Amino acid sequence: MSYKSDKTPMYNAKDLAKFLATQNNCPLVLGSATPDISDYYNIQNTEKNNHLYILRNRANNASLPTIEVIDLRQELANGNRSMISDRLKFEIQENLKNKKQTILFLNRRGYSSFVICRDCGYTAKCKNCNITLTYHKFENKLKCHYCGFEMNNLNVCPECNSKNIKYFGTGTQKLEDEVHKLFPDCSTIRMDIDTVTLKNSHEQILNKFKNEKIDILIGTQMVVKGHHFPDVTLVGVISADTSLNIEDYRATERTFQTLVQVARSCRS
Ligand SMILES: [Zn+2]
Ligand SMILES: [Zn+2]
Repeated sequence: MSYKSDKTPMYNAKDLAKFLATQNNCPLVLGSATPDISDYYNIQNTEKNNHLYILRNRANNASLPTIEVIDLRQELANGNRSMISDRLKFEIQENLKNKKQTILFLNRRGYSSFVICRDCGYTAKCKNCNITLTYHKFENKLKCHYCGFEMNNLNVCPECNSKNIKYFGTGTQKLEDEVHKLFPDCSTIRMDIDTVTLKNSHEQILNKFKNEKIDILIGTQMVVKGHHFPDVTLVGVISADTSLNIEDYRATERTFQTLVQVARSCRS
């Protein structure tokens, strides 16, 4: 995983570093807990004078956090309609009680919603782009935000014929509302493209979270990388499989990298 600037001039920091290293004939060190498959392959197979060094232990010999996967289909069968599972709800409650901090990670901002079959997990995707279609309530249509493809709303699941089709609205804003409903007394701070607008406010939000001991940080992938918060003992990833549906041939690789990185911001 590496930095890519989305402002002009657009660049990929890793490619730029490689170019500078070649120009100046100096060594380049690429370090990552989750190296790209392409780098890993190149280092072992194609490029000469490359060395692979593996750190087998985390800093201070810290152990990796325990990870639990919760199936939301099962949660629904048990009567929980929330995007926060009962297990996660319990752990957040414990953390609030023990004055520890929590990070909730959800890779969708705002209120954007999509269609999901609550019985088999089917999501409606664009036939051209293979990405998840977004539900537009006003027109009652499903639309692709990339190519403009649209289709009528589904009543029956094309995969399993279930009528248990739901418009699953997830988004950081909605998640924050839900957290406040569940835990009215907790303090939250949100970090996504809508709250990070001013220069440095990325750092400001993280510092505020850390220094003012805000209970819960809610954010998109911005919260993921390389942060160390000593009091964070719980990280909840909401609908962790959503990013498998993005329009990128590396979607599975990216999902893995993101999940590993976000899990590591947690002290075990
Ligand atoms: Zn499309
Ligand atoms: Zn289905």
